[in-house]
Amino acid sequence: MNDDWICGRLGEDEPWLMGAVNPPVFENSIFSFETVGDLAGALRDEDENYIYWRGTNPTVDLAQRKLAALERAERAKCFGSGMGAISATISSLVSAGDHVLVLGAIYGPTTQFLRYLEKYGVTHTHVADLAAADSAVMPSTRLLYFESPSYMAYELFDIPAVTSWARSRGIVTVMDNTWSTPLFQKPLTMGVDLVLHSLSKYIGGHSDLVGGVVCGSAGLVRPIARTEFMLYGAAMSPHDAAKVIKGLRTLPVRMAAHQERGLAVARFLEGHPAVRSVNHPGLPAHPGHDLAAKQLSGYSSLFSFVLDTDDRDQVSKFLDNLRHFRIAVSWGGFESLAIGPALSIEESVRTTMGIPIGLVRLAVGLEPADTLVDDLTRALEIFIA
Ligand code: PLP
Repeated sequence: MNDDWICGRLGEDEPWLMGAVNPPVFENSIFSFETVGDLAGALRDEDENYIYWRGTNPTVDLAQRKLAALERAERAKCFGSGMGAISATISSLVSAGDHVLVLGAIYGPTTQFLRYLEKYGVTHTHVADLAAADSAVMPSTRLLYFESPSYMAYELFDIPAVTSWARSRGIVTVMDNTWSTPLFQKPLTMGVDLVLHSLSKYIGGHSDLVGGVVCGSAGLVRPIARTEFMLYGAAMSPHDAAKVIKGLRTLPVRMAAHQERGLAVARFLEGHPAVRSVNHPGLPAHPGHDLAAKQLSGYSSLFSFVLDTDDRDQVSKFLDNLRHFRIAVSWGGFESLAIGPALSIEESVRTTMGIPIGLVRLAVGLEPADTLVDDLTRALEIFIA
C-alpha cells in the first residue's frame, strides 16, 4: 500500500459505495435493527457497530481507515476537533496521582488542558530535552507528550531516542504530528505509542473544517474510543469526514506544493538583512536539519522567523503592511497566513516560552512563491532606512 493509493482509493471500491466516485455521506443519526436482540448485541460493542452517530458512522469510518493506514496504525479514531482528540487521549492515559512529562514547546491549549487536569490530581513538568527529562522523571510519570518539530520554534527531537528513553521506563509516548502530516513523518514506525493530528490543518486543507484523530494500536485506541470518545461527545460529523476524505485525495499534491513554496519563502527570508533568523528545518542552517533528513521525508510550510527588532510596534507595522498574507490563526489551507505570537500572548507566557518579540509565524499557502516573496519584500521595507 503506498500513501498516494491510501489517500485516493483505500476503501473506495467496496460494494457499499455502489460505484459512487465520491464516498456517500451517511447523514442519518441512527441505525435500526431487525430485533431487540440485534440491538442489544450491537450495544455490547458500540465502537464496532453502527447504532448512533455520536459513536460510529460509515463515512467517518472510511476517513479513519485511511488515516490509520497512512500512519501505519492498527486503529484511528476521529474527533470533532484536534483538541477533542488531544484531551480524550491524555485523559484516557492518566489517573489521579499520575505525572506527565512535556518535551519541548507544544500547542498552547494542550498545556492549558494539562493545567486543567491539576484539579484531578494529575501534574506535569515541561522539559527542554532528555537530559532534563532524566532529572524530572518520577515513579508516577505515566506519559511523555511532545511535538516534533516543536510548536512555534520548529525544534526537532530524535524520535527513536525519545521513545526508547520512555519505553525503558514504562512511559507511554504521545506525539502531535500535525505539522508533518502522515505523508512526511510516521512516528509510530519510530516507536511512538499514539499519534495525534488536528485535521483542521493540511489534511482538511481548505480551512473549512475542524477535526482531529488519534492513531495507534487497537489496545490503546479502543479504550479511548469506548470511553472518552463516547462520554466527552466530541464526535466528528460525517460531513466533515467527507471533507477529510476529499482533502486526503489531494494531500500528496498539495504537500509537495506547500513544501516547495515554503522553502522558497524561507530561503528568501534567510537572506534578508531585516531578518535575524529563520526557523525552518529544511534550511541547512537549522540545528535539526541532519535529524530532519533521517526522520522527515518532506517539510510542510509552517515556520517562523525573527525580525531584527525588539519593538512590538515595528512587528505590528510589518504585519499590517502585508497585503497578500492574511492575519489569522490556524494553517494548512490554500491561503498564506501570518501572525506575531508575541503580540497576542501575556508577557509572562512569552518569556516562559522563550518567544522573541520579533517572532513571526508564516503558514505558506498554495499561491505562487513570487507573489509571497514580493509581499514580504514590500512589507520589510519599513526596516530598510
Ligand atoms: N495541534 C496543533 C499543533 C495545532 O496547531 C492545533 C490547532 O491550531 C491543534 C493541535 C488543535 O487542533 P483543533 O484546532 O483542530 O482543535
